[in-house]
Amino acid sequence: MTEAFRILFLAALATTLGLKLWLGWRHLRHIARHRHSVPADFAGSITLQQHQHAADYSMAKTRLSLLSAVIDTGLILTLTMGGTLQWLSASIAQWHLGSVASGLLLVVAVTLISSAVSLPLSLYSTFRIEARYGFNKMSLRMFVLDMVKGSLIGAVIGLPLLALVLWLMAQAGPLWWLWVWLVWSAFQLLMVALYPTLIAPLFNRFSPLEDLELKQRIEALLARTGFTSQGVFVMDGSRRSSHGNAYFTGFGSAKRIVFFDTLLKQLAPEEIEAVLAHELGHFKRKHIVKRISFAFALSLGFLFILGQLLDANWFYAALGVSTPSTAMALVLFFMAVPAFTFPLTPLSSLMSRRHEYEADGFAASQADAQHLIDALVKLYRDNASTLTPDPLHSAFYDSHPPASLRIAHLKGAR
Ligand SMILES: [Zn+2]
Repeated sequence: MTEAFRILFLAALATTLGLKLWLGWRHLRHIARHRHSVPADFAGSITLQQHQHAADYSMAKTRLSLLSAVIDTGLILTLTMGGTLQWLSASIAQWHLGSVASGLLLVVAVTLISSAVSLPLSLYSTFRIEARYGFNKMSLRMFVLDMVKGSLIGAVIGLPLLALVLWLMAQAGPLWWLWVWLVWSAFQLLMVALYPTLIAPLFNRFSPLEDLELKQRIEALLARTGFTSQGVFVMDGSRRSSHGNAYFTGFGSAKRIVFFDTLLKQLAPEEIEAVLAHELGHFKRKHIVKRISFAFALSLGFLFILGQLLDANWFYAALGVSTPSTAMALVLFFMAVPAFTFPLTPLSSLMSRRHEYEADGFAASQADAQHLIDALVKLYRDNASTLTPDPLHSAFYDSHPPASLRIAHLKGAR
């Protein structure tokens, strides 16, 4: 069993890496081939220079993601069959701490190692790629401060949760996975409720929308669609990046609408209204509830599988570990799972793209579809998103349909 699972895991890891490299290579080739001319649909609104800027930016990001895939695979192999996890676990065991404390230490050590490995890529992405294409607004000081703040918050929230999970795994009997699932689901819901008012303000400033004309427009749209919220806020996203965005957070009537200040600068009031109508569409078509339910079902499935593996010595041995423990099971499981689930990525992308079409349909019924089209073109242009993704790469990864298809769909809905 040990040998069979080791071979299966290596095959999954190789397939996933091969697939990522192949899709990335196709994407690079496709963008390069279409770099010399703006697609006909966008000829009037995007210049050749802007198109080439987007092509170069997309290719730089794709190349970095390929490098990152290779490094991740190397890290997984080093930690598992390379013996690093076994070495960590043996070192921690020498201190004779309790099982929960040793488990916490193991997870913290693995988190630190993987953060240290991904840090250079993150620095390169922010201070080379984003900076070169004019998007980065962060100083190194701010980057470090964000990292420190993020780690502290992660530790304050994550460590007690992890301690509870490890305790349940050891003490709650054969159905521990069901208890962990309940705790995990409750935690997720709590985070959705607390994030907008407790955590997000630690990183950004949120102020009520002041533009009166825009405010009236938005309130009319909210009234028309019967949407209740706790208000419309502007976030100072421009402190970090010139990429624009808009989103909703919170639950029920405690929902907040948040616009990045960058988005408000990029778009005209009627276009902002159309973008908001699209976001409202996600709510009205119950996409948020569907997504959360899907995530809950998925985590129940994964925890059930982990429940079956916890006492299986072959699972640990195949991945290079001879001293099973609950924390080790968690670490190995979450390290191994992505290699098996990556080929299923297109299914979740498909669901997401279907939701985008539905939200666009709703927006077209509540606002002027042409304004949403104008907003999309501006956002594609200002965010330097490529208009010519490789179709297969797009089908695999993209949460949003390609620009040309989305606009054609909106034109049909008018
Ligand atoms: Zn959307």
